[in-house]
Amino acid sequence: AEQEGDNNITIFLPEKFTAAYDELRLHSDMPGALSRGEFEVYYQPIVRSKDQEVVAAEALIRWKHPQYGMIPPDVFISLMEKTGFIVKLGQFILDEVLKQQKRWELFNFKSIEVSINVSMIEINTGEFVQHVEKKLAEHQLDPECIKFEITEGIAMLNEAQTVKYFLALKKLGVGISLDDFGTGYTSFGYLKKFPADIVKIDKSLVDYILTNEEDQRIVKAIIELAHTLGMKIVVEGIENKQMVDMITSYGCDYLQGYHFSKPLPVFEFQKLIR
Ligand code: C2E
Ligand code: CA
Ligand code: CA
Ligand code: CA
Repeated sequence: AEQEGDNNITIFLPEKFTAAYDELRLHSDMPGALSRGEFEVYYQPIVRSKDQEVVAAEALIRWKHPQYGMIPPDVFISLMEKTGFIVKLGQFILDEVLKQQKRWELFNFKSIEVSINVSMIEINTGEFVQHVEKKLAEHQLDPECIKFEITEGIAMLNEAQTVKYFLALKKLGVGISLDDFGTGYTSFGYLKKFPADIVKIDKSLVDYILTNEEDQRIVKAIIELAHTLGMKIVVEGIENKQMVDMITSYGCDYLQGYHFSKPLPVFEFQKLIR
């Protein structure tokens, strides 16, 4: 199901994706699923371009549903955003990642930064930043061990408020990535407006990069602009060696994609940072 997981595909095939699931059923299953342990955090490595060392990971949630099997996050995340359950799930994910970071620290694994996807719905509760601060203190962890990946959307319409939340997170010492850059509403102006450390170029912008010269120019321009603004770049959706070489030659800082690894259960992932 991994190749169906990217939300870009969902955008083009919304009915096909949701038709197979009974939304009401999923909604009523959620609280029980959380307490039964049906949600599991997977980790996808992020490598440094220059030497292809694993230096970070993206936390990606999986729901192992007893009837439906593995449900892609694109299906249940948007549903949870509508119902508000995303706040509970987000707290679970943060806790899982922090616990994991603590274990890796205690057992002397290589230290890596974990990027956590966070919905603007969670941030707009107004309690997110304080919650993160409390959890970092509880687990006695350095804020640099996590980053939040945020996708622009209508929930960011109140720009002034969004910038305030971003600045509060940065003040805590937690990094911010602008996810899915190059899709939807994202624009160059947005880069200047929202203070972030990382820009993640969306998979859809690199899917045809080996042959599409326009995409090549766009990706180069985004990398240059991000660097001008002091931000680092991650390109996601890297599926082969030719893409690695081309995008590295553009000066991209970090790479992520099936060419390196699919998202992995923690037990598999941690073999990479032994
Ligand atoms: P995203 O944040 O853009 O995550 C990247 C997606 O691309 C992941 O799908 C990942 O498995 C997939 N991917 C990575 N490399 C490749 C590749 O080389 N080729 C292809 N075809 N796909 C690749 P996934 O895990 O199914 O997640 C889909 C979306 O669901 C995520 O998109 C994110 O928006 C959302 N999501 C996943 N986990 C969480 C979470 O913990 N919290 C929240 N709020 N959203 C999440
Ligand atoms: Ca995406
Ligand atoms: Ca992401
Ligand atoms: Ca993304």
